[in-house]
This record gives sequence, structure tokens and C-alpha cells, in this order.
Amino acid sequence: MKTELLSCNDDLSGSIERAAALIRLGEVVAIPTETVYGLGADGLNPSATGKIYTAKGRPSDNPLILHISDRAQLEMIAETNHPMLEALMSAFWPGSLTLVLPKKEVVPPTSTGGLDTVAVRMPNHKIALEIIRKAGVPIAAPSANTSGKPSPTNAQHVAEDLTGRIAAIVNAGPCTIGVESTVLDLTQEKPAILRPGAVTRDQIESVIGALGSATADISKHSPGTRYRHYCPNAEVIIINEPCDFDTAVLEMKKVAWIGSHPPQGAKKVFKLTTAEDYAREIFNALRICDSEGIEIIVVEEISDAGLGAAVMDRLRRAAGKS
Ligand code: AMP
Ligand code: MG
Repeated sequence: MKTELLSCNDDLSGSIERAAALIRLGEVVAIPTETVYGLGADGLNPSATGKIYTAKGRPSDNPLILHISDRAQLEMIAETNHPMLEALMSAFWPGSLTLVLPKKEVVPPTSTGGLDTVAVRMPNHKIALEIIRKAGVPIAAPSANTSGKPSPTNAQHVAEDLTGRIAAIVNAGPCTIGVESTVLDLTQEKPAILRPGAVTRDQIESVIGALGSATADISKHSPGTRYRHYCPNAEVIIINEPCDFDTAVLEMKKVAWIGSHPPQGAKKVFKLTTAEDYAREIFNALRICDSEGIEIIVVEEISDAGLGAAVMDRLRRAAGKS
């Protein structure tokens, strides 16, 4: 299959029209969002969403997030009587909070991994919203990478993984946030975070009060969490203190360093300090390390506070530690 590259510099409205038309036809198109690039298809069409799973090599029980552009679409796909829903939507939509709600009949089980709930989000990205509006359907979109690999935060990353496997890629430059949405389950007695993400626990609790903790069998509630994720080819080592690292390794292996205290002798350095910097750059850094044949990626740990929770979740998974 030839993958069309749709630029948003030269022909914004033409690219949006084309992307929406392909999605209406049941094809798969990579679209930009503020978090990471998504692999979008008509979320109500099982044959279209089937192509997402094939292109990514995604296990079929890992459910998809449906992206909407207005509240009427929410009414169409989910039960909306949860008492905290209105406050959450007003505070965080459009934005990087995904809400898990009871699904309506119209949503096929192939979009939800067979669950009777549906994950929904209204992205805070003008081009994504316009493509959804023009397509006229909720767009199912997981991250636009090969399953298991670091998520894509620019169109080049998508092209590396999926050229020849999808109908088109819409290029709107790098993502501003760089880590995925927070997934909040509203179907348990107390709302609980199933996946930490771009919206922090504190931000959510300031709107609806204390959250519950995700149940021990989180993989049952959020099947995506049970699979390997974000893994580069290189080994990822997370260190608490820069001095914990044995610099003799620098002589023997091609080492890349991510953080604020790189040692002399690292082959590649990504100088990152704040959680926001880590979030925006981390997947790009992991991918560059692979393209340059790095063998070990050392990452300085950051605090789990705020956005750091999402960053450290991704890094621990990249390191195979959760
Ligand atoms: P991805 O789109 O690959 O970044 O991941 C989507 C995430 O949302 C995964 O962790 C899924 O397990 C989670 N998710 C999607 N739909 C549901 C649902 N109906 N119930 C619980 N979690 C969901
Ligand atoms: Mg993903």
C-alpha cells in the first residue's frame, strides 16, 4: 500500500479533507494530537478498526480510545449520567484526559476489546478536531507506532514504523505534550486512574476530590497495561543518583545519557531537566538512540510528582520494570 504524506504547511484544508475522506472510506490515517500521533480509523466500523490492529500488530483485546469533536458524539457512544462527568468535561476537554464510561450499543466490541465500557477523549488539537468533525464519526486512535515500540511524537516517527501499512500520515509537526492521555475509569465506585498521563492526579482531584486506587486486577480493567510498551532496542537503565553509574561501562558500550548530569564519555546526550522536557522529548530520544545503534540508555530518574508520574511510568515500562 502506498502511504500518502499529507502536509499541513502547504495545504491545510486539503490535507484535512483528504484525511477525513479516507477515514470515511474505512481506511487508517495517522493524525496529530497534542499528546502523541494517533492511528485513526472510523471507531464504529469493525473492518476499519481491524486495520489499526493489523498495521500496529496490536493484540485484539487491547481496547481503543475513541476521539470525539463534540458532546453530541459522546451522547451517541457512551452513557453520560455519571455525576462527575460534567465537571470533568468542563475542566479538561478538549484535552488529555480519557474517560472510561459504559458504552452504548452502537460501539462495536471490536473497538473496546470486548469490554462493555468505552474510553473517550476530545483532543486539544485543532487539526485533529477538524478531521473528526469532517469525518463525522468518532475516530478510534491508539498511538501510531508498531506495538511495543516508543510512541510517535512527530510524523517521521510514524513513517519509520508504518510506511506502506497505512493509507496516509498527516504531518502537523511535533506534539506539544509528548506523553499519552491520562485514562480515568468512571465505571468503578470511586473514579480511578488506569494509566497516568498528561493530566495529573492533582489536577483531577482538584476538580472531583480524592480518587480511588485502581484495583489490583488493573489489567482486567485496562487490558493495555498488561503488554510491553515503549521499548527501544537498546537496554534502558534508570538511575536514582548520577554517581550510581559505573563509568567503566562507557569504555565498553555505546552509552546514551538522558538527564541533567551527563558524564564525560557518553556517546550521546539528551540534556533534560523538567518533567515537561522529559515528556516532550523522551520518545524521540529513545528512537534516536535506536537509529544510532546505542546499546545502553541511562536515564536519570525524576520525581513521580505531577507530570513526572506519567514520564516515570513510561520509562519503567521501557526498562521492562513494570
Ligand atoms: P493507547 O491508545 O495504546 O495509548 O492506549 C489506550 C489505553 O486506554 C490502554 O491502556 C487501554 O487499556 C485503555 N483503554 C481503552 N479502552 C478502555 C476501556 N474501555 N476500559 C479501560 N481501559 C481502556
Ligand atoms: Mg500506545
